[in-house]
Amino acid sequence: MEDKNPEYWESSCEGPPASRLFGLQPEGLGTPQVESLTGYIVRLARLHRVSPGVLVGQEFAPRVTGTMGTIDCKRSTSRGFNRAIARAPWTIDGSGTTARKWVAAASALTLRQDLEGLTMLPWATVFSEKSLCRRTRAWCPICLADGLEASRVVYEPLLWKLAAVNCCPLHGVVLSTQCTECLRQSSPFTYRDAAGTCPRCRHPFHLSPSPPRAEPWRQRQAWEVGALLEVSSAGAGTACALPIKEVVKACLVRFTGNNTRGRQSSGNVAALARMIGVNPSTLWWWTRNDYKPALEYFLQISLTLRVPLAELLMATRTIQPVHSPRIGSMDQMISPPAFASLPAGLGHRTRRPLDREEARRHLEIHLYDGPSLPLQEVAGRIGRPPATLRANFPELTRAISERHRCYTAARRKARENVVKETIKAIALALHGQGIWPTAWQVARHIKQPNDLRIPAILGFLNELQRQIKATESDRQ
Ligand SMILES: [Zn+2]
Ligand SMILES: [Zn+2]
Repeated sequence: MEDKNPEYWESSCEGPPASRLFGLQPEGLGTPQVESLTGYIVRLARLHRVSPGVLVGQEFAPRVTGTMGTIDCKRSTSRGFNRAIARAPWTIDGSGTTARKWVAAASALTLRQDLEGLTMLPWATVFSEKSLCRRTRAWCPICLADGLEASRVVYEPLLWKLAAVNCCPLHGVVLSTQCTECLRQSSPFTYRDAAGTCPRCRHPFHLSPSPPRAEPWRQRQAWEVGALLEVSSAGAGTACALPIKEVVKACLVRFTGNNTRGRQSSGNVAALARMIGVNPSTLWWWTRNDYKPALEYFLQISLTLRVPLAELLMATRTIQPVHSPRIGSMDQMISPPAFASLPAGLGHRTRRPLDREEARRHLEIHLYDGPSLPLQEVAGRIGRPPATLRANFPELTRAISERHRCYTAARRKARENVVKETIKAIALALHGQGIWPTAWQVARHIKQPNDLRIPAILGFLNELQRQIKATESDRQ
């Protein structure tokens, strides 16, 4: 066919370059509930109708691992995925080189320039990247249920990925970390992720029972971190955020009446160290070196001195200190617990004495009443490390762990029995239709085909096949 107007075609081809993947708009940009990069990739995969594993294995792996053009990842997406996440999927949302590579890859694929705000990269010069992100998935079932009810996009906020945040600032409840169906924890980013469901058993997380309320100071901490994410995800340029050296200097001037020349005397450093509950030599080290402490330390300073973290960190007034982050902007405005309402001496990790009676009371409640929880979670709710509780209450903590072990084993057994019943019904029905009930045939009809990988269940099916064969030969 003769082209009558070749110029038209040429001119219509000009325009912005097409991106390889959809340039999906990230959720919650400029709010404390900004989406995480891993959550974004999961949604991107869903949009392309593939699993996150396939998307990562085929598109991200060559870019992230620097093997562009040398390895055909299409032949083995699972190998590509494993190579890309390098056994540390939590670092993708962090502030290190891994996060930087993933942001670069995602930006190249979607041609979006605002993806850095979905990670902790804007805070790379301020916080240590070590232990910044949690290694197990956490979620707020109420947020997920509310989102579904209001027909909003379900996604995983960056707040849920951070180790320093253990409660939902919107609902004030402790974040859940264990699936109530399969009783297992999961990695923060997996091959078969789907937003809001357990990657192991596909149980929707919003159906989990409502978790207990978090302590007000934990809620306040979650708000403080949310305020930082609000600033960084808005692309407001966190280059003016202060390193610890400057934060400590500012605190010295503000709280210990330092001299006007800005020099710190060892007396003032010691006084500040006492106030915020760290070792004076540690604080001295912070003021002298380019050191990046963990986010928890900044939260400790903010909570003890009762100054919002964003205000502590902002060097210039070009960014207004965020006093009331817009966490509730999507629902209703909810205020954080006021500093004045929090008990004194909070955040002192080293000096807060253990209230033995209170701790014992909590442990006994968890041992005799309520749902069985792992010691790690009980310790989180008491606000003490498991090791401290183990050292102070060896028998009680052992009993809690034992109770949870028995509970988990009983739940697993009960579930196994239900699966066995289902398999038996399916196998007999298949046999009735003249189909031999192989594992593959049975797997096609059950909700979770992976169950057939459990040795006890596979053994049960083999036994069933033997019984069917025996009855058949008896009849003949
Ligand atoms: Zn929530
Ligand atoms: Zn599960």
